[in-house]
Amino acid sequence: MSAPHVLISGAGIAGIATALQLVRGGIRTTVVERAPEARPGGQAVDLRGASREAAERMGLMPAIRAHQLHEQGMLYVDGRGCPYGRMPVELFDGRGAVADVEIARGDLNRVLLDALAEAALQAPGLLSLRYGDRIDALAQDAVGVEVRFASGASERFDVVLGADGVHSATRRLAFGPEGRFATRLGGYAAFFTMPTPAGIEDGWFSMRIVPGAMLGIRPDRDPATSKAMLTLRVDHDPALRGDRAAQEVLIRRVLTGAGWQAPAVLAAMGGAEDFYFDELARVDVPEVAKGRVALVGDAGYCGSPLSGMGTAMALVGAYVLAGELVGAGAEEAPAALARYARRIEPFIADGKKIPFGSLERAVPTSWTGAVLGALTTRVMLSRPLRPLMRRAFAENATDALPLPLPASDAVLAVE
Ligand SMILES: Cc1cc2nc3c(=O)[nH]c(=O)nc-3n(C[C@H](O)[C@H](O)[C@H](O)COP(=O)(O)OP(=O)(O)OC[C@H]3O[C@@H](n4cnc5c(N)ncnc54)[C@H](O)[C@@H]3O)c2cc1C
Repeated sequence: MSAPHVLISGAGIAGIATALQLVRGGIRTTVVERAPEARPGGQAVDLRGASREAAERMGLMPAIRAHQLHEQGMLYVDGRGCPYGRMPVELFDGRGAVADVEIARGDLNRVLLDALAEAALQAPGLLSLRYGDRIDALAQDAVGVEVRFASGASERFDVVLGADGVHSATRRLAFGPEGRFATRLGGYAAFFTMPTPAGIEDGWFSMRIVPGAMLGIRPDRDPATSKAMLTLRVDHDPALRGDRAAQEVLIRRVLTGAGWQAPAVLAAMGGAEDFYFDELARVDVPEVAKGRVALVGDAGYCGSPLSGMGTAMALVGAYVLAGELVGAGAEEAPAALARYARRIEPFIADGKKIPFGSLERAVPTSWTGAVLGALTTRVMLSRPLRPLMRRAFAENATDALPLPLPASDAVLAVE
């Protein structure tokens, strides 16, 4: 029985975590990433429940802890920066908006890349990591997948995994057009690194809500920098896709008159090297495996950054997918991928839910709505109502979802 040669499209969290487990499991793996190098950006992502267990079983927790953010909680501020509601981490036992294990997305990607480099050193010849290229065409038959790359090269693989995000090219090529699987959620999200402005409360994730936008500033590992985080409630505009200048114009318009740190955020935005902007979308693919091609992470299941579960689902998906492939021969790969699709389904069905509803509920469109929202937040976070809030967070919590265990779980678990 020969082990399959696997191609992974995309070197984000899902792609690198899958590659790591495959290489550890003795599988020859090629990763192709469109960007010229690893993409560093992103704000804090949290690990709780199943994703934390997956990280533990993958032996990643010591490195994650070394890069961990120490957020004390979240606070809501008004236009002058005065807090009117506070959610300390311990108030919700780490199950509130801020979890007890938080790490910047770029740092988690680095942790995974370092672990992958280490695994590749232990198993020479198993890993090929190519930046600046992408799949242009693929055609699968009963015994393999023929892939043509944008660079002009063609190669045959036993398995192709799409870990290329919400706008996955692998999904388009093997499953169908994006419109069949992605649902727009009514807005956009942007993240970038900025110098920590004066007046920010140290260690706290501060949030200001204005008509059409939530503006957050989150601590970074380096206290000199912070992560700006924007959630915009605006209509879909195709002209925004890939046009940074147009994206910045939109952000400037929405934040005009927002007060607080909006001027500092806008001043930092133009020069931010890790500026990330994308439409909020949910991705539902009824069956994430099709023959010898499968999807992992946002490419196959995404609840948008509003779900707070993108990275968790990517890690869990990678763990389960690799666990099914390791030990399966090249001829058994389609059956292994089908098992992965079945096993991951209950987890992703829950993981895609948006806690406390929708963008419409979170972001008002008028100042009246913003003021009413602030009043409600103040009341809900007041001492007498805290038990109610605690229960609401517990009911919306995703940390109770068990980690689906793949066939070769024992083989891949790292002490
Ligand atoms: C730079 C960046 C910053 C982010 N910041 C946040 C954040 O702050 N908060 C949040 O909730 N989510 C953020 N996300 C999304 C979050 O990372 C994902 O929801 C989650 O981690 C699942 O990851 P993924 O690997 O499935 O997808 P992604 O993280 O989107 O990674 C997909 C990878 O595939 C690559 N790619 C895309 N198309 C192709 C192609 N055709 N060929 C080859 N490679 C391709 C991309 O360059 C990217 O590296 C960010 C994503 C990126 C890329």
